[in-house]
Amino acid sequence: MSPENCPALVLNADFRPLSYFPLSLWSWQDAVKAVFLERVNIVSEYDRVIRSPSLEMRLPSVISLKEFVPAERRPAFTRFNVFLRDRFVCQYCGGGYPAHDLTFDHIVPRSRGGRTTWCNVVTACGCCNLAKGNRTPGEAKMFPRHGAFEPSARVLQENGRGFPPNFLHESWRDFLYWDSELEPA
Ligand SMILES: [Zn+2]
Repeated sequence: MSPENCPALVLNADFRPLSYFPLSLWSWQDAVKAVFLERVNIVSEYDRVIRSPSLEMRLPSVISLKEFVPAERRPAFTRFNVFLRDRFVCQYCGGGYPAHDLTFDHIVPRSRGGRTTWCNVVTACGCCNLAKGNRTPGEAKMFPRHGAFEPSARVLQENGRGFPPNFLHESWRDFLYWDSELEPA
C-alpha cells in the first residue's frame, strides 16, 4: 500500500473527529510531522512502515490533538455549509442530490430585495430553482420545507455525520459511528 493511501483520521482532544464532513483527514506527511512536533498522540496505526536512516515507524491511522480546538461558534456562510444545513436536499421538491447538482435559491429573489443571508437562502435543485424563477414563494406556490436559518456549528457537525466518505479504514470506525444505532452486544 502506498503511503499516499494512508491518511490519518484527525480527532479533537475529546476523541471526536475534528470534522465529519468533509472528514478531517491529514496526509501521512502532515500526520508524521505533527507527531514529531508533539502536537498529537497516535491512537492507531497502519501496518505500513516508513523508514529513514535514523527512524522506522508505522504510519498513524488515527491521531488525536493534544490541545482541544473549540468549534467555531458561527459557521462560515458558504455554499457548502448551506447544502450541509439542508442535508443536500432540495428544499422545494425534497430530492437529495450531490453538491454539483444543487444550486442555492433566494427565497425572496434578489430582484425583489431579498438578501444573500442564511435566512434567505435555501438549497434547491436546478429544476426547482428554474421553476421558481424570480417569484416569491407565495407567487410560485413553492415553499421551502424547512425554514432558512443560521445553523450552529453543532447542527452542521451532526448533519455531517450522515455523509460517510467512500473510504473508511477499519481503525476509524470506532470514532465515527456512522450508524448511530449501535447493536447491543
Ligand atoms: Zn427540487
